[in-house]
Amino acid sequence: MTPTELGQKKRRLWRACWRVMNDPTKSVKLARLARGVAGEYVAYSEILLSPDHDLIPTMMHECMHAAYPHWSETTVRRAEAFLMRTVSLRSKRIFLKRLVEFL
Ligand SMILES: [Zn+2]
Repeated sequence: MTPTELGQKKRRLWRACWRVMNDPTKSVKLARLARGVAGEYVAYSEILLSPDHDLIPTMMHECMHAAYPHWSETTVRRAEAFLMRTVSLRSKRIFLKRLVEFL
């Protein structure tokens, strides 16, 4: 993948995250999850985050599930890892601020 393609992929995924976060039909709740694995509990109208897990990657992960419901768990995990690797610290900070507004 060329740098331009990587940049486009990052922007596409990033925009998808924000679309989900700005969707008034979706709610985000902080809840302790029974199992150790965050992310298996998503209902597309409700995103559950555990205070025991990294909030930013988990939120990105759940946004990917909501934005691309047909994606497999593996594809979502790769997209989450890709975003965490490529998005700037400043963008993550903005993302976290928005996330906190939901909680
Ligand atoms: Zn998942």
